[in-house]
Amino acid sequence: MKIKRFRSLAFKLTVWYIVILGAIVILAGLFLHQGFKEGLMNDLDEALVTITDEAHEKWWRSRGVTWEEAIEKAEERYASYEPFIQVVEISEGDNKKVEKVIRSERIPEGVFMLETRTYIRADRSDIDSYIFRTIEEDRLSSYPLRVFLFPVRGPLILQVGVSLEATVADLNRLLIYMILTGLIIMLLASVGGSIIINRALHPVKSVVKTAEDITAEDLSLRIDSKNRKDEIGALVETFNNMIARLEKSIKKIRQFSGDVSHELRTPLTIIRGEIEVLLRKDRPKEEYLKTLNSVLEESHRMEKLIDDLLFLSRVEAMDRSKGTEIVDLDVVLNAVIKFRSSPASNKKISIDAKNIKSVRLKGNRELLERMTANILDNAIRYSNPGDHIEIELEKDKNMARLQIRDSGIGIPEKSLPLIFDRFYVVDPSRSTETGGAGLGLSIVKWIAEYHNAEITVDSKVDHGTNFIVTFPLD
Ligand code: ADP
Repeated sequence: MKIKRFRSLAFKLTVWYIVILGAIVILAGLFLHQGFKEGLMNDLDEALVTITDEAHEKWWRSRGVTWEEAIEKAEERYASYEPFIQVVEISEGDNKKVEKVIRSERIPEGVFMLETRTYIRADRSDIDSYIFRTIEEDRLSSYPLRVFLFPVRGPLILQVGVSLEATVADLNRLLIYMILTGLIIMLLASVGGSIIINRALHPVKSVVKTAEDITAEDLSLRIDSKNRKDEIGALVETFNNMIARLEKSIKKIRQFSGDVSHELRTPLTIIRGEIEVLLRKDRPKEEYLKTLNSVLEESHRMEKLIDDLLFLSRVEAMDRSKGTEIVDLDVVLNAVIKFRSSPASNKKISIDAKNIKSVRLKGNRELLERMTANILDNAIRYSNPGDHIEIELEKDKNMARLQIRDSGIGIPEKSLPLIFDRFYVVDPSRSTETGGAGLGLSIVKWIAEYHNAEITVDSKVDHGTNFIVTFPLD
């Protein structure tokens, strides 16, 4: 699947990253700007106090000069600030108003004046609360003015102001630097972030690519996790494991269908061969009968095989939660034994089934019947005349144990782990003779698993075989 760029995880993560980083940069910028502004204002306020001190303390009080002179001297000394200085006198008594203003030559009349009540407040102010003001608009300067009011004595208030031009310029410069730095940070971070995110997500792309390349024909492909121990590594490993399981099951299915075709072909080839030989010339009646009997045997084999295959495909599709009932296992077992008593005695094999306890369990009657029949049929088929079979069904508090023991030909040790596999036969010539295709025990195993039962087998060549099925009882 082709993912549109703006829908991709990498794109979304990058956008989120930029948005969050942008918010952090803006917030940090705001704090920085505010802090810087406060610092500048404090410096300016200190300068205003120093200029005031110069005019008041140094000149007017210590040297006893006139206010006009004191103002001029202070302006001269702090010319770099271009200060505006004036002395405002307010009347005494109840109805206070501005009586007189002694102003610097730099200040035209009618400007640089504050409201009367501000002067009155400054007059009253004690040392802790000197009045500083920022006048946004005044005809003195096209920039705001920072003003300090100092109560000299009685009705006299010394007013010093400085234009904020330099401060505003500094702040504007800072703002430009901050915006530029912010943009550079954002640019670098988004390029870097996008590279990192794309690199982190690269294995996902290779997962997608490999998954697209994998087909039922070629499941051998694996993704290289490059030994990553993170979430992506875990994803890659899970994916690889899944493909490995898939590969295994597909291999099994292929093997199975190959085996099925082979097993069906063999009896058909035999049937055709025998009929062809028979038809070549006229033959005595006995030969026809012999061939017909052999054909009948082969068709029985095919029928059994097809029957087993149908059974397997039917039960494998079965829903395990359904079809459970209360089954009397002893009743099922006795019926199966009864049905097999005559073929066994025909073969001179005795069956001893005395120790059969009554066992009730939840399960599927038809399947349990098939399981016991398959094990017992094998015991009869793989025993010789004179051998005997013992069947036991015991019961404990929470489990029941079924044992079918024969004194027959036994199973070689190396074959024991394989006998439950589909189409596995120990001795093909003997199985052909007895009509088996190696499906019987795989069906038994499947039925045992269906009932959560455990199946084990003990066997010794020429001594016999013991199949033990242990059912849990709840
Ligand atoms: P088959 O149809 O060939 O009997 P099964 O799946 O029933 O296939 O059994 C697999 C193989 O296990 C058989 O080929 C047989 O050799 C061996 N086997 C099963 N049961 C017994 C037994 N009771 N005694 C000896 N061999 C057995």
